[in-house]
Amino acid sequence: MDWHKLPLTEQLAKLKAGEVSSVELTKALLSFIEEKDQKIKAFIKVTKEEALKQAEEADERRRKGDNAPLLGVPLAIKDNICIKGVETTCASKMLENFVPPFDATVITKLKEAGAVFLGKTNLDEFAMGSSTENSAFFPTHNPWDVERVPGGSSGGSAAAVAAGFCAGALGSDTGGSIRQPASFCGVVGLKPTYGRVSRYGLVAFASSLDQIGPITRTVKDTALILQVIAGKDPMDSTSVPKEVPNYLEELNMNISGAKIGVPEEYFGEGLSDEVREKIEDALKVFEKLGCQIKKVSLPHTPYAVAAYYIIAPAEASSNLARYDGVKYGLRVEGKDLIDMYKKTRSQGFGPEVKRRIMIGTYALSAGYYDAYYKKASQVRTLISQDFANAFEEVDFIVGPAAPTPAFKIGERISDPLQMYLSDIYTISVNLAGIVALSLPCGFTSQGLPVGMQIMGPHFSETKVLALGHKFEEETKFYEKYPEV
Ligand code: GLN
Repeated sequence: MDWHKLPLTEQLAKLKAGEVSSVELTKALLSFIEEKDQKIKAFIKVTKEEALKQAEEADERRRKGDNAPLLGVPLAIKDNICIKGVETTCASKMLENFVPPFDATVITKLKEAGAVFLGKTNLDEFAMGSSTENSAFFPTHNPWDVERVPGGSSGGSAAAVAAGFCAGALGSDTGGSIRQPASFCGVVGLKPTYGRVSRYGLVAFASSLDQIGPITRTVKDTALILQVIAGKDPMDSTSVPKEVPNYLEELNMNISGAKIGVPEEYFGEGLSDEVREKIEDALKVFEKLGCQIKKVSLPHTPYAVAAYYIIAPAEASSNLARYDGVKYGLRVEGKDLIDMYKKTRSQGFGPEVKRRIMIGTYALSAGYYDAYYKKASQVRTLISQDFANAFEEVDFIVGPAAPTPAFKIGERISDPLQMYLSDIYTISVNLAGIVALSLPCGFTSQGLPVGMQIMGPHFSETKVLALGHKFEEETKFYEKYPEV
């Protein structure tokens, strides 16, 4: 049995039917990882023993009649989400030996649902980047072409799902870090509404933008994981006390007649011809499904990247102030306290993280606040209003997830601006706090996956997932698998 090719819901069906035990499935995937991950390098750490123990427990629970929603299914977790007792490195030397004494809320929920954790996946250091090349340990390779990046920052999670090391993973998305790697790796990724999923136990990058979400092979699987992790959490005051709908049940809701907006600003300069073609093909599929396509405008899109690169670094510079060598993480001794701080931070952080801390600190300095942070916040409001205006006319907005397919390893790493532009279509969504789903919509002539983004208003996950599900049922791109 090619377990690595099965979507999560199908693995689950076989577990339920007793055709396979969680221990058997977990072992099969662990040995597949052992064989193939030398090439892909999706995992920072594979937690073999813990996984087998969890799998045994899951089988035991099933024997006792437990029918928890993810019982026995192996998943991978981005290494900026805390699992009690397992190193959480954020792909940084700063946290290389940090072992969290607690579970993130999403982890607690996944454990209750019966999931098994295969390990922690690679990322750009502290989730800052778009290629996973900023990991302090090693880059991850794209399963469709190992000379290319898997995207970032959740590149390890996206590559793990694409390669079939697991059928589902968690990522985090601050400016596109779930959707852009999902697009580069030909898998599905969801950035939920800000506040839909608890951030407790996610190592903070930019707190007003960060959100945890699923990465899977199918939209249905994303709905299943979201169902488990969504909801109000007393440990995160920004999580919203709004009832969690039944995403799975609503997946087949009627979407015929839905109005889809296509923003002209997402089809301008910098968009590759092949990506444009695939998105245009996808729009034809939606028309066939009975949707109406309408042009819309999001006029402040050109300012999104600039605003994000003030707001995100400003928040990061403050969040990362805690890494001072005192309470946890790396400590490099110095001749006095200040010298210890300096040495610890100089040696603990990589170049991109330092760049962000410097930009953020500068932007927040006395005298510059009005010119930078305040201005960027005003732009953020305008971007939110653009979406609100568009959503008065349409139910969804559809466009590319990224301007190009996966680029080559090394191609953009020395040019930060070029790298920042890979998130041009994803960043506005975080600034506005709305929902966006990235899903495969075709392959280039070189066989590289292309991702499409479906955006919806706050808390419209149900409808966005239903539209994505209809599209995947019609196109079945998820059936294509990269032979790793
Ligand atoms: N690539 C963007 C950045 O570098 C977004 C990262 C993310 O979403 N975590 O900030």
